[in-house]
Amino acid sequence: MPILAGRMSQLGTETAFEVLARATALQREGRSIINLGIGQPDFRTPEHIVEAGRKALADGHHGYTPANGILTLRETVAADLHRRHGVTVSPDRILVVPGGKVTMFFAILMFGEAGAEIIYPNPGFPIYESVIRCSGATPVAMRLHESKGFSFDADEVLGQITPRTRLIIINSPGNPTGGVVPKAELDRFVAGLARHPEVAILSDEIYGEMLYEGRHTSLTTYPELADRLILLDGWSKTYAMTGWRLGYGVWPASLFADAERLAINSHSCVNAAAQYAGIAAMTGPREPVGRMMAAFAERRAYIIPALKALPGFRSATPGGAFYAFPNITDTGFDSRAIQSRLLEEAGVATVSGTSFGASGDGHIRFSYAASLAALEEAVGRIADWLGSQRQHESARRQA
Ligand code: PLP
Repeated sequence: MPILAGRMSQLGTETAFEVLARATALQREGRSIINLGIGQPDFRTPEHIVEAGRKALADGHHGYTPANGILTLRETVAADLHRRHGVTVSPDRILVVPGGKVTMFFAILMFGEAGAEIIYPNPGFPIYESVIRCSGATPVAMRLHESKGFSFDADEVLGQITPRTRLIIINSPGNPTGGVVPKAELDRFVAGLARHPEVAILSDEIYGEMLYEGRHTSLTTYPELADRLILLDGWSKTYAMTGWRLGYGVWPASLFADAERLAINSHSCVNAAAQYAGIAAMTGPREPVGRMMAAFAERRAYIIPALKALPGFRSATPGGAFYAFPNITDTGFDSRAIQSRLLEEAGVATVSGTSFGASGDGHIRFSYAASLAALEEAVGRIADWLGSQRQHESARRQA
């Protein structure tokens, strides 16, 4: 038997991929499954972006690119950050990587080790806690408050900082809740960080262009954080490009060489055609992004009230992304049981809140990146299933 390194036993996973595999297996058996489990837009990548990737391949862009990404792409990202946030970022601080996850992996690896603490959102994207544990560091859960639309409380987070804290991870708009941290809370958080100059920040803004009201506040707009802020962003969600594997990090100048060395040690560079597609995405027409967001807004307007109307369900209204994270404690089922029974018995794939950390208990996540018709069908199936459970229950009581 090969003997694995101890850290492998600490590595978690993303349940959404397991749910996807089970949903696909059930579909292969002929079952009708509505998949609201996986977090990806249900749109095709806009045609002009696909065409740019195709052209790059036809033009012979088949070799390695610089490890940090082709210069034109990094310049395009810098211009995009200026357009969106009004900030000036040197392309020399931008590291293009295969998907948003890679910036997260590198940042956590760079700061995590035995004895270190990393504060991360819980409920949150499961890979944060998984990689923190794998790195040997201690994960410290940042509470997100359902009553505050799943924002954190700045004073509470600042109070969790100890001399061992190396990194704090922020994710707004957030997965799995769709929660948005209000600017006033971010202001308080950043002001308090002045007392902790040795703590680095990873701001995961992969859903930064997916807001339903108001404007996204990027942590890049706080100049006082520039020497310790790592921005995680990418193309996956905004441009419906999850399968292209394209993302980027903006690193403080002092950390850039380390981040680039991690890239050279792991993936060398990103697939060249994907990088050309990434340029087309950011420089091309913005209507496709607007159309997608309009569709998500319409779906949100349907699904939140529809979920709230289900017996035992209540739900905050997500401010961004495309997730609903209703509280299902009053149904009498626990999160894992309801995830599995909805999939097996009602044909609706969701993800248990516990897959996003202990604080997700009592919730399930719906990714409403599906057509309105599919959402209506899913809600109808869940209502029927809940109704049949109630009937069983009252029959059992009478017996
Ligand atoms: N960060 C968050 C909060 C996410 O939800 C996801 C994907 O679901 C990612 C990062 C990773 O994105 P990518 O597919 O570009 O690696």
